[in-house]
Amino acid sequence: MIHLKISNIDEINDWYTDEIVKIVKKNATISIIPHDHPFVIKLDNWLTDYDNVRQLISVPVDILRERYDVIEEYCRIIELFTEGMLYERRIRSIKSNRNNKAKYLEKRTEYIEDHISELLIIYEKLNTVKQEAKISDAKQSWKNFENMLKDAKKYIDYSKLFIENHISWAWLDKDSYLKGELVSRLNIKVCPYCNRQYIQSITKYGNKKYLGDIDHIQPKSDFPLFALSFYNLIPACKPCNQLFKRDKKLKILNPYLEGFDDAAILELRYASVKELIGEKPVSDLRWTLSGPQRALSEEQKNLIKNNIELFGLNEVYKSDVDEFQYVQKKKYLLESRSLHLSVKKIMAKLVHWYLGDKMYYGVSLDSDMFQNEILSKAIYDIVKYN
Ligand SMILES: [Zn+2]
Repeated sequence: MIHLKISNIDEINDWYTDEIVKIVKKNATISIIPHDHPFVIKLDNWLTDYDNVRQLISVPVDILRERYDVIEEYCRIIELFTEGMLYERRIRSIKSNRNNKAKYLEKRTEYIEDHISELLIIYEKLNTVKQEAKISDAKQSWKNFENMLKDAKKYIDYSKLFIENHISWAWLDKDSYLKGELVSRLNIKVCPYCNRQYIQSITKYGNKKYLGDIDHIQPKSDFPLFALSFYNLIPACKPCNQLFKRDKKLKILNPYLEGFDDAAILELRYASVKELIGEKPVSDLRWTLSGPQRALSEEQKNLIKNNIELFGLNEVYKSDVDEFQYVQKKKYLLESRSLHLSVKKIMAKLVHWYLGDKMYYGVSLDSDMFQNEILSKAIYDIVKYN
């Protein structure tokens, strides 16, 4: 949700890429390529050129996809395949509908018609079997359709094994010095996904301990090719990484490149006047899209909604509602426009002018500081927009 602002990011990326290319040169092994596997041969050729490996490590995935056909092809295959796996789950739910035979058959046909062309693209890329035969086979029999998926999985699993010869997360994961050094150079103090947990490095008994995790924004289980790519490695808190995100397929904002900014804000929802004036605790809050700030594309809206959903932001922020209500009270005190300002209000203004936002509200109200201050984005929204 937070757009990370790291002033020397290019310098860190260069250093990291140099280190990783050294590791790749040391560890990469030659793959045994089956002669009838055109896509794997293409990817293999691409990966044996270290200039390409540098690009793979240092450049964001979306740009790589535009720049290299082979990367675009790879991503599309994996995307279609992971979609295929989700379809399989749907297949099972359709199957459980079997007692209503007519409905089951109707849904099954509809389903195959909808998805067969997409699945065939996987085939086109991965093997050389005649496509026409496959289409008619799969349309005729449900079993054939399921076999197609199983077959596709075989190829994807094969490509994973092959990629691990060139790129492996284990190489960085076991290098605790390099991993720790990357995290401390990035110097991000608060989880960019939730803005609610500290993730900085601390030193104990002379050893650096990193309080967070490194998340692969494109899960390494699906996209092992990007397991070491700089822009794919997001320092994040353990709850966000291990409880919420895990290997989920939802596409979300990449905090190195974009955040909610003013397009999604935290809103306190008041059920009564008493809640509004602080006599009763606020009953609800919501992260919502804030229209007037800028016109959002459907894709951006979806990415933001996915972030809110995936990290359970509406749920986890509920436990901070007292804090937010307190901020709201301070704001009310400061902004009251009564002709007869009470001594309290004058004092509040004086105190605020004297101390500034950080002392008054507890955070700087500066979007450049979101990555260093817990709950800062939410408090900023309450002061600015609620
Ligand atoms: Zn988090």
